[in-house]
Amino acid sequence: MSLEQLREEVCRANKLLMEHGLVCLHSGNVSGLDRSTGRLVIKPSGVDYETLSPEDLVEVDLITGKVISTHLRPSVDLPHHLYIYRNMPGVGGIAHAHSDYATAWAAVGRPVPLCLTSMADYFGGEIPCAPYVDNEGDNIGQAIVRYRGRAPAILLANHGAFTWGPTALDAVKLAVALEDAAKKAFLASQLGQPLEIPLEEARKWYDKYHHGYGQIVPPRTPQTVTRQPQSPG
Ligand SMILES: [Zn+2]
Repeated sequence: MSLEQLREEVCRANKLLMEHGLVCLHSGNVSGLDRSTGRLVIKPSGVDYETLSPEDLVEVDLITGKVISTHLRPSVDLPHHLYIYRNMPGVGGIAHAHSDYATAWAAVGRPVPLCLTSMADYFGGEIPCAPYVDNEGDNIGQAIVRYRGRAPAILLANHGAFTWGPTALDAVKLAVALEDAAKKAFLASQLGQPLEIPLEEARKWYDKYHHGYGQIVPPRTPQTVTRQPQSPG
């Protein structure tokens, strides 16, 4: 993938965060990494999602952490993104949001319980909640790597959520799925104790969804990555 294509994809992914109502004002951010070049692009700090263009994204070297393009300053969350990419080899995209329901669980320091099959489809387990850490240095990155579970998502107590995947669009799709799961689990918890799905059952749903759901599509190309997130039926 060229740098221009990566910029296009990550710009689209950032706008999807806003279009799905997962961010307020300038909060939240998405980055994408091309591991073949070791370059990532991330949302600039304090820029409106509405006006964000691919050229505004800040290019950064994964190894040195040096900003390549000097047009705008990167998101203040860049160190956390760098730490995740450096310590989680399969990750090519990261989304961070303070979305309403996921952040409500984070505010009380509780994981989102694995209580729905749609959650098992996407995540294969509960969404853990890491204890509170401040945003100095690698504290957030270390908490994510240390407390993550089976799911490609985690809550940070008193803060918000991170999701990750092979691409920036995958990470945003999971942010949408996380908010949906967090909302439904919250509603369920108003009626009573959510019924948790045993892990071995969750694995069956997860494996089936990841190997048998949807249409058979040709290998991913830059033209096919702009699809909208969709829910399992
Ligand atoms: Zn945050």
